[in-house]
Amino acid sequence: MEKQITAAAVAYRATVFDYDGITSETPLALTAAEADTMIGLAVCDGDEVTVDPDRSGRFTLIRALTGRSTATGPARTLRKVTRLVPTTAPRTMTARQYEDLTIVHERENARTAARLRDGRVDAGLQCVPLAATGRLLGRGWLTADPSGEVWVSYAGRIAMALHEHRAEILFKGLDKLVRRADGSESWEPGGGLFRAACSCGHRGEGWREERRSASRDVREHRRAFLLAVMLA
Ligand SMILES: [Zn+2]
Repeated sequence: MEKQITAAAVAYRATVFDYDGITSETPLALTAAEADTMIGLAVCDGDEVTVDPDRSGRFTLIRALTGRSTATGPARTLRKVTRLVPTTAPRTMTARQYEDLTIVHERENARTAARLRDGRVDAGLQCVPLAATGRLLGRGWLTADPSGEVWVSYAGRIAMALHEHRAEILFKGLDKLVRRADGSESWEPGGGLFRAACSCGHRGEGWREERRSASRDVREHRRAFLLAVMLA
């Protein structure tokens, strides 16, 4: 019974701004599998995908439709914008959950995929315990098809990527030589320089005079790896 509940767990709330400008009144609740299908189709059709460059895991799919409403009328481009917000914050992923999802993810390209057996993930030599499997399904990070094959959902892959790339801003204090009227001089603390640094080893291009420039470097790095997940 629990398996059925968790397999249908909601992974995203989607708000749709339709071509006619009408917004869906209540956000659609999407299971991980439904969201995977939606994202897969959007990527396949070449829709525009934009990611929020923060740690929220939110993103937007934009489908453009160009056409004429009458035979001689001007061409118009209408957009359908779908905004997806994960129901579980990616930042709540634990190191253990990351490892468990890695086991499943590594099997995705293997001859035999990981499977759900008696409520736990069986990935050949490795397995994910019952309770941990239930939690991963419940968060929408893991999803299973009716045959029992399991895979890491887009929601799971995005949360994994955010776990792999934990950014911080490095600070380097600068001292300056102060020369006084009496001729004495001393080193006094001056301003500082900032640099983006990511746990994956990535560093911002250089030291920045302003913290917000380093923050921008962090966001650009995040945008790049999140898009790589979405468009893979
Ligand atoms: Zn990184």
